[in-house]
Amino acid sequence: RHFLERIQEFDQGLNAVVTLAEESALADAAAADACIAKGEAGPLTGIPILHKDIFCTRGIRTACGSRMLDNFISPYDATVVTRLKNAGVVMLGKTNMDEFAMGSSNETSFYGPVKNPWDRERVPGGSSGGSAAAVAARLAVAATGTDTGGSIRQPAALCGITGLKPTYGRVSRYGMIAFASSLDQAGPMTRSAEDAAWLLAAMAGFDERDSTSADRPVDDYVGQLGQDVKGLKVGVVREFFEDGLNPGMRAAMETAMAQLREMGAELVDVSLPNSHHSVAAYYVVAPAECSSNLSRFDGVRFGHRCENPRDLEDLYKRSRAEGFGSEVKRRIMIGAYALSAGYYDAYYLKAQQVRQVIADDFRKAFENVDVLLGPASPETAFRLGEKSDDPVSMYLSDIYTIAVNLAGLPALSMPAPLVDGLPTGLQLIGNYFEEGRILNLAHQLQ
Ligand code: GLN
Repeated sequence: RHFLERIQEFDQGLNAVVTLAEESALADAAAADACIAKGEAGPLTGIPILHKDIFCTRGIRTACGSRMLDNFISPYDATVVTRLKNAGVVMLGKTNMDEFAMGSSNETSFYGPVKNPWDRERVPGGSSGGSAAAVAARLAVAATGTDTGGSIRQPAALCGITGLKPTYGRVSRYGMIAFASSLDQAGPMTRSAEDAAWLLAAMAGFDERDSTSADRPVDDYVGQLGQDVKGLKVGVVREFFEDGLNPGMRAAMETAMAQLREMGAELVDVSLPNSHHSVAAYYVVAPAECSSNLSRFDGVRFGHRCENPRDLEDLYKRSRAEGFGSEVKRRIMIGAYALSAGYYDAYYLKAQQVRQVIADDFRKAFENVDVLLGPASPETAFRLGEKSDDPVSMYLSDIYTIAVNLAGLPALSMPAPLVDGLPTGLQLIGNYFEEGRILNLAHQLQ
């Protein structure tokens, strides 16, 4: 009730929550009470959370920030939702997001932009901007997010919270509306690394309904918190500190680095020489996959359908023209172009090769270091509308996050010192399945 009231009181100014699930939240809470009374409570029993509106929730609208799914009530729960429900959480509702998770500012949502609680004239980052703003404004204890190219880490950075993108395949994608299937990954958005560890422990694990989910045991993330970090080798990614990084951000990163040294970690200079190709490679691979994934929205089976179609082609054309916003259309066109005969080798295949080269850079780096470090975003929260007319400058918001997705590695953003009164994010990148290690480091740095 406390959180439902907070949402009602404060969300009007933020627009972080798109659906309030009051009735089911109170039912979840009553079930949690009963569980506690029986002495059967687990660590997450009764914890109030919000889900990004990209996760299917049975009986509750799942719109994915799009007019296309404004009328969509899912008949089933995503695995992430099921697992957290089984762990006893209370779902308060669904959070606003960029349309189909395409964006870095949460301005492409059909439901309007989300405001950053630190300064409502500024963006919260995206695409999980609603989740980040909600956790920062204490509208929920935690929230879920998804990260295809930075969408957990960048908004976490801009809102001053902790956000973790796990290793690709660590968390099931079943029931998570697909954007770019080879990159999409779900993760927790929380106030602390410790909270993230608890949530990830419940979310992670093999799922036979996702063929890309990793069939390996889940580590004891919470148990790893507090492990000694003395002697840990932390690689400082040289390319992430070149021009383009705002000077205030650089100073914030240096403060965090000094703290690491004090804790006994060894800081090493590391190069990821091909990382500057990551945004270019991503903006071929991600749109290519999205053009394929979004072809299911045809106005026939579910989602928006235009009025009085003349024939099948008119039904497809008008349903999609009306249902999708302009950023989604831009991606579908880029993707369809890159995949078309004659251009496939030049763009799609090339991008896949570059992706491999980027992954190799990380593999080599991890031969010498345990963890990599850099900023999560090149600047603090920018003003609403500032980049809306310039897609390329918007795409560059993810310059430090995208390489990690292309390689499939785990990474988190945690709060670093404020710059001009606004939050910044320190990014810690781990080797495959080493979520526990970066969570522990973040926990001790906090
Ligand atoms: N900002 C990037 C994009 O627009 C990443 C989005 C995401 O991670 N979902 O594609």
